[in-house]
Amino acid sequence: MTSLYLSVNSDFMFLVMIGPPGAGKGTQAKRLAETLGLSHVSTGEIFRQNISRKTELGLRVKELLEDGTLVPDDLTIELVQDKIDQLVNGSGAIFDGFPRNLEQAKALDDMLLLHDKGVDLAPLINLSDSNIIERLTGRRTDKDTGKIYHLIYDPPPDNANVEQRSDDKRDTVLRRIEDYHQSTVPMLAYYDDRDLLCEIDGDNTIDQVTTALLEVIRGRVFA
Ligand code: AMP
Repeated sequence: MTSLYLSVNSDFMFLVMIGPPGAGKGTQAKRLAETLGLSHVSTGEIFRQNISRKTELGLRVKELLEDGTLVPDDLTIELVQDKIDQLVNGSGAIFDGFPRNLEQAKALDDMLLLHDKGVDLAPLINLSDSNIIERLTGRRTDKDTGKIYHLIYDPPPDNANVEQRSDDKRDTVLRRIEDYHQSTVPMLAYYDDRDLLCEIDGDNTIDQVTTALLEVIRGRVFA
């Protein structure tokens, strides 16, 4: 695959994907990472992998994730610190799900600064609360293939072995939305003040959102 990133001969790009739960951060971050030749780091995914491998970290965070509660900053920042140390010698990364509050955003800058690097762009995928609820409560994952379905918009085949993420249950979704407004929204000004924030409408098809993101990245980072 052609790497847009390598083709412009920069040596490192760091993006942080922001958005409410269900906005499509994970899907879009994966696509951008592939197109731009970047590593994709999802803190939620790392926590879930640790839970399924029953590691010490997994056991510590299992209940928090099931409950849709945020993991304490010190634990999350420590996890990211290890990742940054591994990533700085690569071509860059797109983070998804981190940072989620101002403290994490500042910690990330400090970690990157130690390596003479910084955040290049913070794409924000916007989605209304009612759309988030509809998307997340209908989301199902195929336990065998990992493929994600939606009960109404992309129903799983009859024989699929699907499950619902425990944090996609309605009450938990409502709490996650509240956390987003309380913790993440106040962080947006931190990036906006430095002109790093760019807003994308998440209420479009997956392909349209990817196109919009690539356009803004091309315009802002490669300009
Ligand atoms: P996600 O897959 O990004 O929706 O994250 C799933 C869950 O992982 C969250 O509800 C939190 O419990 C935990 N988590 C992921 N990223 C963070 C973060 N940056 N800070 C705190 N908790 C996090």
